[in-house]
Amino acid sequence: MKVEKVIKAFSLKEALAALKENEGRAELIAGGTDLLVKIRENHNKKPVIVDISDVPECRGIRFEADYIAIGACAKYSELVESDRVMRQLPGLWEASKSVGAPQIQNLGTVGGNIANASPAADAVPPLLAMEALLEIVSNEGCRTVALKDFFKGKGQADLNEGEIITQIIIPRPGSAHINVQFEKLGLRNALAISRLSAAAAVELSEDKVIEKVCVASGSIGLTGMREPELEAFLTGKKLDEALISSACDLFSEVVSSRLSGRGTMPFKREAVRGVFGNALKKALRASL
Ligand SMILES: Cc1cc2nc3c(=O)[nH]c(=O)nc-3n(C[C@H](O)[C@H](O)[C@H](O)COP(=O)(O)OP(=O)(O)OC[C@H]3O[C@@H](n4cnc5c(N)ncnc54)[C@H](O)[C@@H]3O)c2cc1C
Repeated sequence: MKVEKVIKAFSLKEALAALKENEGRAELIAGGTDLLVKIRENHNKKPVIVDISDVPECRGIRFEADYIAIGACAKYSELVESDRVMRQLPGLWEASKSVGAPQIQNLGTVGGNIANASPAADAVPPLLAMEALLEIVSNEGCRTVALKDFFKGKGQADLNEGEIITQIIIPRPGSAHINVQFEKLGLRNALAISRLSAAAAVELSEDKVIEKVCVASGSIGLTGMREPELEAFLTGKKLDEALISSACDLFSEVVSSRLSGRGTMPFKREAVRGVFGNALKKALRASL
C-alpha cells in the first residue's frame, strides 16, 4: 500500500493523538528495519506511518532498585554500548550484539523486535528467560502484560490497534546468584536472521544446585517461547557437564517432536544441543 503520510511524534501524547486522528489507517514505525522492508515490497497494510523513534517515554534504559526498564525504542546499539547492560543483563547484551550488523543495530529497536512477533526475534528469548513484562499504552489507558503471554502465533501478538509498547520491564531477581545467558546459531555471522537460539536464566545455590531456571528458545516454534519441560528437568539438580549433556538430549527430543515432519527438524534437533549446551556452559562458568 502506498504511504500517504508520515507523522513524527515528539511525545507519547502526540503519538496517541496521531493514532486517534488516523484510526484504522495508521501504523507505528520505530527503527524501520522491519517495516521499511514491508513498505518497499508493498506489504504494508496502512497508509499513515507514525514515527515514535524520538518519543521520550519510549527511550532510554533505567536501572531501578527492583527492576530495569528498557524503553521500547531503545536501539540495540544503545544496549551493546552500555556497560551496565553488559554486566547486569548479559543474555540481552549478547542477543543485541548478535542482531544483524552494526547498521541494523543502529536503527533496530527492542520494542520493534517484540511487536513484530517473529519466531526469530533475538531479543525475545533472553527477555522471556528474565520474565519480562511489557507496558502498553493507548488512548484508553495503560496495561501490563507478561511477555510469555504476549505472542499468539507467528507474527501475531496481544497488541491492539492504537496500542504502543512503551517499556519492557525486567524484574530484578530476588537472588544475586542468577545469571542469564544467550546463544544463537545464525546462517552467517553478520546479517543473519536467527535460525535457532536459546537463553537460560539459572539461579544456583552455593553447591551449584539449580534452585530456579527459566529456559526460552527462538526459531523452534511459531514464536519465541519458554520451555517448561526443560525447566522441570533441570530444577533441583546439580549443574555440571553430565547434567548439561542430559538436558541437551532432552531438548533434542523436544525439538524432534515439535518440528516433526518439517524439513528443518533433523538440522535443528542436532543444532539445539550445541546452542543450549553453550548457554548452560556459560552459566556454569559465570558461577565459578
Ligand atoms: C538485514 C537485516 C538483518 C536483521 N537481523 C536480525 C537479527 O539478526 N535478529 C533479529 O532479531 N532481527 C533481525 N532483523 C529484524 C529487525 O532488525 C528487528 O526485528 C528490529 O528489532 C525491529 O525493530 P524496528 O524498530 O526496526 O521495527 P520497525 O520496523 O520500526 O517496526 C516493526 C513492527 O513493529 C511495530 N512497532 C515498532 N515499535 C513498536 C512499539 N513500540 N509498539 C508497538 N508496535 C511497534 C511497527 O508498527 C511494525 O509493525 C534484521 C532485519 C534486517 C533488515
